[in-house]
Amino acid sequence: MRKVNILILDDRIENVISLSALLSNLEHVNLLQTTNPHEALRICWKEDISIALVDVQMPDINGFEFVSLLKNNPKTNHIVSIMVTAISKEDHYLIKGLKSGAVDYLYKPLNPEITLAKVGSYIRQIHIQDEIIQKNNELKQSREALIKAKEEAEEARKSKEIFLANMSHEIRTPINGIMGIISMFKASELSREQEDWVRRLENASHSLLHILNDILDISKIDSNAMTLEEEVFQLSKLIEDIEKTMSIRVKNKPINFQVELDENTPSYIKADPLRLQQIINNYISNSLKFTEKGFIKLCTKVIEKKDNFYTIEFSIKDSGIGIAEESLENIFEAFQQADNSITKKYGGTGLGLAIVNRLAKLMDGQVDVKSKYGEGSEFSFTATFESIAPVDAQIAVEKGEEKELESFPNVKILIAEDNELNVFILVHMLKSWQCDVDTEKNGYDALQAFEKKNYDIILMDTHMPIMSGIEAIKKIRTHKDPKKRSTPIITVSASVLEHEQEAAKQAGADDVLSKPFHANDLHGKIQRLL
Ligand code: ADP
Repeated sequence: MRKVNILILDDRIENVISLSALLSNLEHVNLLQTTNPHEALRICWKEDISIALVDVQMPDINGFEFVSLLKNNPKTNHIVSIMVTAISKEDHYLIKGLKSGAVDYLYKPLNPEITLAKVGSYIRQIHIQDEIIQKNNELKQSREALIKAKEEAEEARKSKEIFLANMSHEIRTPINGIMGIISMFKASELSREQEDWVRRLENASHSLLHILNDILDISKIDSNAMTLEEEVFQLSKLIEDIEKTMSIRVKNKPINFQVELDENTPSYIKADPLRLQQIINNYISNSLKFTEKGFIKLCTKVIEKKDNFYTIEFSIKDSGIGIAEESLENIFEAFQQADNSITKKYGGTGLGLAIVNRLAKLMDGQVDVKSKYGEGSEFSFTATFESIAPVDAQIAVEKGEEKELESFPNVKILIAEDNELNVFILVHMLKSWQCDVDTEKNGYDALQAFEKKNYDIILMDTHMPIMSGIEAIKKIRTHKDPKKRSTPIITVSASVLEHEQEAAKQAGADDVLSKPFHANDLHGKIQRLL
């Protein structure tokens, strides 16, 4: 504990000496004394005085004036002043002292016990104040550290986003090419052996895309960039589709795939069908991966119904390898696998369940697992969905239904894309719809071609050398010829980040096509713009 400096001011030296002698009994004090008020002011200015014991009656400057001087100076106004007086205990005297800024009185002749008790209590107060100041400083420092850490985290989040945007572009572009070529191969004449090779190639590129999507999904959710769509769709149809795919996928194993729907399950619901399917598929894929024989069963159960809102539990039960009890606790966390041998034997990244967990939370849902090692597992997920009356739902669903792919004879399309493989695939697709296609490798060359010929639609990659797609779009949108200026533009972007897609739209693109894309996506967008 620090020593508290106490100043004793009295014009009579014998009073100074006796008060000093008395106060020297206190702990943690350092006494300074003087008989001269001017000297006392100087001490208060120069030393760190905490308490001043001031005689009231003094020639030249009296005690009240002295305390007022202390209080009116910012350098000394913190000093706790106690008046020492022999004059009177009358109220007006007391008030005068308190008004000048004193906090207390001591009456002469001094009672030693009262004096020690009073000064002692002010010393304790000062120590408490010291502590408060120290705590305040610590708080200030930790607040500053927190602000700095938050800024650093924000910076890190931004660089992560940029990294993701680049990575998704760099990886998605070649995958898009590979998948396009695969579908061209599949449509051509192949020997049995070649068909098998293509099938393996397709599986490998799907796995690659799956891992990439998982990493992007988890990063998007963790940086709050994932938003759910709201769409009306037929839940039983979604489950039927899953059932169809599963009946093909389980063919290689002696597994019985069963579906059991609660009869109260609503027919049409409003939700994000892709994400709901992603959760169910993730569970089913795991069951398929970790089950050699027996069964996999998908069930729905209506847990609660309030007006149009249904709380539904989706569960996937299997007779697979099961999970040891000690591994269950963290199984929904990222990069967790039941044990190390799992990676060696079955592969996987440990991201699937973490994504399911986060997606379920986005839907205000909850995940759960029950499992017995060696016997099987049951993974489930509960969320609340709005049920839509079949008549309204039918209209909503029909609006979104795909039409048959028709040709676009002689529609003139300009492709600006630097990746040769993607150009090759786009040209192949567009020519199969009888379009008239020109290609350029960067924004600058695309602009030259655009000057020379009138196009019905421009397909523009966003990332290109020499001149980016965004820059080229801006130039087209400010062209002097109003007809040319309004040429429909679709950007073809490998980025999954919304703000990149938003940037393309802000520059003037009419639509954005994300890589890898399906022929139907491109066809639908062209049809809409024509
Ligand atoms: P991955 O399967 O890619 O490793 P997941 O997050 O999907 O990642 O699963 C994490 C772990 O949970 C798996 O590695 C496995 O140990 C365990 N697991 C998940 N589903 C099952 C299941 N149906 N049966 C047995 N173990 C499972």
